[in-house]
Amino acid sequence: HSSERLDHLLSRLGYCSRSEVRDLLREGRVLADGMPLRKAATKVEPASVQIDEEPLDHPYPLYVLYHKPLGKVCAHDDPRAIYQDFPPRWRYRRPSFSSVGRLDRETSGVLLLTDDGDWLHRWTSPRYDIPRRYRVTLENPLQGHEAGILASGTLLLEGEHSPCKAAEMIPLGTTELQLTLHEGRYHEVRRMFAALDNLVLSLHREAFGPFTLDDLAPGQWRELSEIERQRES
Ligand code: URA
Repeated sequence: HSSERLDHLLSRLGYCSRSEVRDLLREGRVLADGMPLRKAATKVEPASVQIDEEPLDHPYPLYVLYHKPLGKVCAHDDPRAIYQDFPPRWRYRRPSFSSVGRLDRETSGVLLLTDDGDWLHRWTSPRYDIPRRYRVTLENPLQGHEAGILASGTLLLEGEHSPCKAAEMIPLGTTELQLTLHEGRYHEVRRMFAALDNLVLSLHREAFGPFTLDDLAPGQWRELSEIERQRES
């Protein structure tokens, strides 16, 4: 990996603005190979740099698997934003660090995040058929016709002109089910069951493509390994 101007590197990673780099340097807080750096334009190897005796965040794209908790929103400018569960400086990284699609505030479960635009597109583009598996609890008992309608690819949501893509539903109880979608529309699961005269009481995403939560607790996250991020659907 190549060297990069210090001020460019630190602002890109969200540590501070390019002009604030000079203050850090004056205060002697930035070291390269253990020696204080003096000039913002110095070219550095990211791995050799320390700020306040800590190594830098890695300078490459971020690929994160997150257990979105209930009550947090997938927006950048909200006091209940999911981004509060990540290091504060990641909010200032460029390119920006964002979720791969969105989950509603009252939906929990698997959410990927990245600052790699190509990778984000690869998992959200309708051209790829990425299965999204949900666990759903309904207010009213299933009536028996739901799985057939959902599988038929004919269900129209209120105000829309193209029907939902065929979805697979497995009943798990009178008001519990597993549902696998192959697209991601706004409030899709909730609106599907509204169209079927029911109401979604709880919604949890168990899988997004090949990604599941394993033992991540709500609000926890981990970076994906190289092998994981190269997975196909
Ligand atoms: N469908 C919904 O209605 N909400 C979500 O958060 C995800 C899928």
